[in-house]
Amino acid sequence: MSIITSHNMLKKAQHEHYAVPAFNIHNLETMQVIVETVAELQSPVILAGTPGTYCYAGTENIIAIAEALSKKHKVPLAVHLDHHEEYDDIVEKINSGIRSVMIDGSHFSFEENIALVKRVVDYAHRYDVSVEAELGRLGGVEDDLVVDAKDALYTNPKQAIEFIERTGIDSLAIAIGTAHGLYKSEPKLDFDRLSEIRSMVDIPLVLHGASGVPDKDVRECIQRGICKVNVATELKIAFSDALKHYFIDNPNANDPRHYMKPAKAAMKEVVKKIITTCGCAGKL
Ligand SMILES: [Zn+2]
Repeated sequence: MSIITSHNMLKKAQHEHYAVPAFNIHNLETMQVIVETVAELQSPVILAGTPGTYCYAGTENIIAIAEALSKKHKVPLAVHLDHHEEYDDIVEKINSGIRSVMIDGSHFSFEENIALVKRVVDYAHRYDVSVEAELGRLGGVEDDLVVDAKDALYTNPKQAIEFIERTGIDSLAIAIGTAHGLYKSEPKLDFDRLSEIRSMVDIPLVLHGASGVPDKDVRECIQRGICKVNVATELKIAFSDALKHYFIDNPNANDPRHYMKPAKAAMKEVVKKIITTCGCAGKL
């Protein structure tokens, strides 16, 4: 049991029509909650961290905690680089033991995105590290966008084929109307676009920005071919809301072994709910 690539777990999910959740972690406690819960439910999982998280907690610390938790709970863990943008940073983290990365060049032009991603793939695949990349843009997408604007921001299915062929990536994050953070109103997802992309490409597809998307819509995305669902904001809110309430009720509390408990319990409920939505319990 140890730190593994996410390639095989996502391929299995693709063939068996469920999704693997990628939960964003931040510290010891959030990692404990997720690994304990996936062990109970026998679910595959990806522990994801942004550059800010690895900077905050320390890459070596995150890997060491993940290795210890993997051993203790007898579950393999994919520790993933979420939204990393710098080639040198990714190389350094692969050398530290990371086996699953996302290189996000989605803010670049199509050609520049391909060049950056290809460079990361060439390095990563030497070490059997899986690579996710993004085509299209997330965030700030409003429901009343005109079709032309949607076409400019959402993933273009024909471009997706070329992008995958030219980069050799293992999974593709697509833009179909989700956004990062919280939604002002219920997001309207472009399910037809997802189905079209699914019918045209063969690698696992990834949904970012799932926090706040209704469960039924996430399930529909999975039915239509999404194999990895990223969740960050929903976990942070559950954790910190419970912590705030604990301090309101116990203003003199000062022992993290006590005040972290309700925060972890609240986050655990969200982790369980998302595993149910993803249909991945028992799929380890
Ligand atoms: Zn994302």
